[in-house]
Parts: sequence; structure tokens; C-alpha cells
Amino acid sequence: MEHKIIDEKKIWEILEKTKRPSKSALRHILKKASERKGLELEEVGFLVNLSGLRIKRELFETARQIKFQIYGERLVFFAPLYVSDFCINNCGYCNFHISNTGLLRKRLTLKETAQQTEFLINMGHKRLLLEFGEDPRNNPIEYVTDVIGKIYSVKTEKGNIRRINVNIASTTKENYRKLKKANIGTYQLFQETYHRKTYEKLHGGPKGDYERQITSHIRALEVGLDDFGLGVLFGLFDWRFEVMALVSHAQYMDRVLGVGPHTISVPRFCEAPSVSYKPEYKVSDRDFFKLIAILRLAVPYTGMIITTRENPAIRKLAFKIGISQASAASVTSPGGYGKHNSNEAQFELHDQRPLYKIIENVVDEKLLPSFCTACYRSGRTGKAFMNLSKPGEIHNFCRPNGILTFAEYLEDFAVDGIYEKGSKLIEFYLKKIEDKKLLEETKTRLSRIKEGYRDLYF
Ligand code: SAM
Ligand code: SF4
Repeated sequence: MEHKIIDEKKIWEILEKTKRPSKSALRHILKKASERKGLELEEVGFLVNLSGLRIKRELFETARQIKFQIYGERLVFFAPLYVSDFCINNCGYCNFHISNTGLLRKRLTLKETAQQTEFLINMGHKRLLLEFGEDPRNNPIEYVTDVIGKIYSVKTEKGNIRRINVNIASTTKENYRKLKKANIGTYQLFQETYHRKTYEKLHGGPKGDYERQITSHIRALEVGLDDFGLGVLFGLFDWRFEVMALVSHAQYMDRVLGVGPHTISVPRFCEAPSVSYKPEYKVSDRDFFKLIAILRLAVPYTGMIITTRENPAIRKLAFKIGISQASAASVTSPGGYGKHNSNEAQFELHDQRPLYKIIENVVDEKLLPSFCTACYRSGRTGKAFMNLSKPGEIHNFCRPNGILTFAEYLEDFAVDGIYEKGSKLIEFYLKKIEDKKLLEETKTRLSRIKEGYRDLYF
């Protein structure tokens, strides 16, 4: 079945038509966006074409408010776990491309998987994002599901991994069904670029099939993988087009299948060891902030992810204008945790701080670090999640769960005075829980965490 998810012609027409937005039209759109119901594509076009310092500030302020109204002050942390860099594709931007014959390929054994998992648990992580290259012979779906099973089975005295999100190449319904059975959290897959010509130019191998890529989430959803993540690799094509297309994709999924994206990721291209590709449409920091804010307004209910591809200063600002999830202390090569970095990495990272340092900086910003995994374990996925996030009710869960998981973190991992700072922050946000019963229950659970109980969530 042909899916008309992206209408390139229409996007270009809108971008042309909305070229010179008046300040009053923009303010009208910002006002509408603040109702948190999302925006029409044409309105997104006006925002994409927006310029001028003052109105840009208003855009950022609207994005900040929406993020706080929907997700509150919490920022969820996760770590990527690179499992296998075997790959039969030839993506022009990635170090794992098949023509990189100099790369000593590696796929983790189950024992190594357990070791890497232990390392991450002992660092403080509770959520992982698994990364695999596409290679049916070396990374068949059974290998993927065995790895997932292994990770869930690992327990150390510091706890366990409670949610595994997965980033594997586009695949069949049958394989998605197996992933679903393996109990994953979000299935994440980026379109990389929505611009078909650029897509086809930059991708060789099975991933070169634009239709296969863009229909992946539909197949996943049809077999019940209802938390799915979208994304664009910014730098491959004009960011203005990509934002319009990303919003079109989100709207299509919501309209036709009844579920919008659980997350949207905004990676920017980074230099990579064997990659000579130079992004033709490098996204400046200014435009990067702008596009984050626009996506926050256009798809207000979605979680937004930033990674350690970005440096600490960029991340700090991005947290304020819409980002709700972030990776921390990542490495991007299989088996790389606990080892020195080398040219086996998928690409260069710009935030190398250890997790405790990132947590400390976030606390200084008065944001609440969270390791929450409650929603999917309580069945709040897909439509059920949307029904809470769309009207802005999800923070009733996010805040107490953020507090509880951060309290666990402080008990088990706090170093260098962060315990005191963190405890003060918890006190501060406890006061913001309005529902008396919920407040009392959160306090009771906090005391139990101090007594040594773990994994208490709403
Ligand atoms: N192989 C799967 C795929 O391509 O969808 C899964 C994971 S791949 C390891 C994860 C993502 O890394 C890709 O979707 C791509 O957007 C991103 N990536 C690849 N090369 C990159 C680079 N040089 N800079 C930044 N991100 C990159
Ligand atoms: Fe393979 Fe993914 Fe890298 Fe492409 S981006 S070469 S599919 S690992």
C-alpha cells in the first residue's frame, strides 16, 4: 500500500507562501500554540520562517511554558548501548557503513552484554537505548531479542535496567512482533532525511529504500509497538523542510493510526572517523534552538530527546526550551563502556561528562533529574499515554516518579555534596504536588526509599 506521508510539493509551497510572516500573525500562532493542541502545517511554516530577536524570544518562552505544562521540570536520563556495529548499509554519514573495511567489527556476546549492562547500572542508569547496525546474518532478530532478555536479567546491588528502548533498522511486521514480545519500551527509528532525493543519494543497501524506512513505524504500530520514536539527522538537508516533514509524519501517524510519536529526536551530524561526507546543510546553533522550540509547539505532547552529540552549553539551553529526555555519559562503540575511546566510535561526541557531573549541573539549573520507567510498566503506552500527555496530565505522574527515582539515585550514587543539593531540590518539588493524597503517598514512598526499598512508582 502506498502511504502518502510526506507531500514534498505541498511543503515547498507552504514554505514559499509563509516566507514573510507578520509579527501579528506570528503572535497569533504563538498564542494558539500555548493552548497545547499543536499547529497546522502552514502555521509551522510561518514559525520556520520567523526572524527577529524579540519574536524569537517569545517563541522560546512559549516552548518553555509548554514543556513545563506537559512534562513539568523533569528531565529523563538514559544511556545508549551499542550492541553490534555489523552493518550491510552504506549510509554516507556513519562510521559503520559497509565500505569501511578498516573497521574491526564487533558484536557483543551475551556475556559482554551483561558486563556492559552492569557497568551502566553501576553508573546509575535505569534506561537504555540499544543500537544495532543492520545485518540479518550477524544481527538477526533472535540475537536482538536474546540481548534484550539478557539485559533485563542483569541485577547488581545497585539495581537493574527497567526500560530498554531499541533502535534497529526498519524491518518486517513479523520481526516487530518479536520485539514487542521481548518487552521493549520505545521503538526508535529516524528517517534521517525526509527529502527523497537526498535520502536516496546518501543511503546504499536495504536502508536505501525510502518507502521501507518511512513506513516502518506503521508496521511496528500494527503489531502493538505503540511507543515509537521519530527523528531527523540534521545537516543532511534544509532543516526547514525537515521540520515540516517531521511534523507531517507525526500528524499522519496521529490522524491515521491514532497514535503520535512518543518521542522526537533531533541529532545533528557529527564528524566520524571514516566519513568524508560534509553536511551540505549544516544547522547553526541558532537554527537548532529554533527548530527544537518549533517542534515543541507543533507536537506538544511528544517527548523530545537530545544526546551527547551536543556540547554541555547547547544542552543546557535546549533543556529550557523543550527537551525532556537526554542521554548521558555515552559511548558509541560496542563494548566501549569502561574502555578508552578509539576510532571504533560511530561518530564524535561533544559531551563527555560523567553522569554524576551532568546530574549536578542539571540540579544547579533547578531541573529534576529522573530515571523514571513507570509509564510502559504500568501500561501507559501509545494511546493511553497520549490521553494523558495531550491534556497535560502526564506531569502528575512525571513529578512524583521523577522525585522517587532521583531519591533512589541520591541514596545509591550521590557524590561530593550532591546529596544535600539534590535533597533540597526534592523538597522544593514535593511542595509543588497539589493533590494531597498523592503528596502523602510520595512522602511515604520517599521514606521507604531511605529505608532501602527500591523501584516504587506510580
Ligand atoms: N542502524 C540503525 C539505523 O540506522 O537506523 C540504528 C542505529 S544508528 C547506530 C543510530 C543513528 O545514528 C542513525 O539513525 C543516525 O541518525 C545516527 N548517526 C549515524 N551517523 C551519525 C553521525 N555521523 N553523526 C550523528 N549521528 C549519526
Ligand atoms: Fe548502518 Fe545505521 Fe550506520 Fe546506516 S546509520 S551505516 S544503517 S549503523
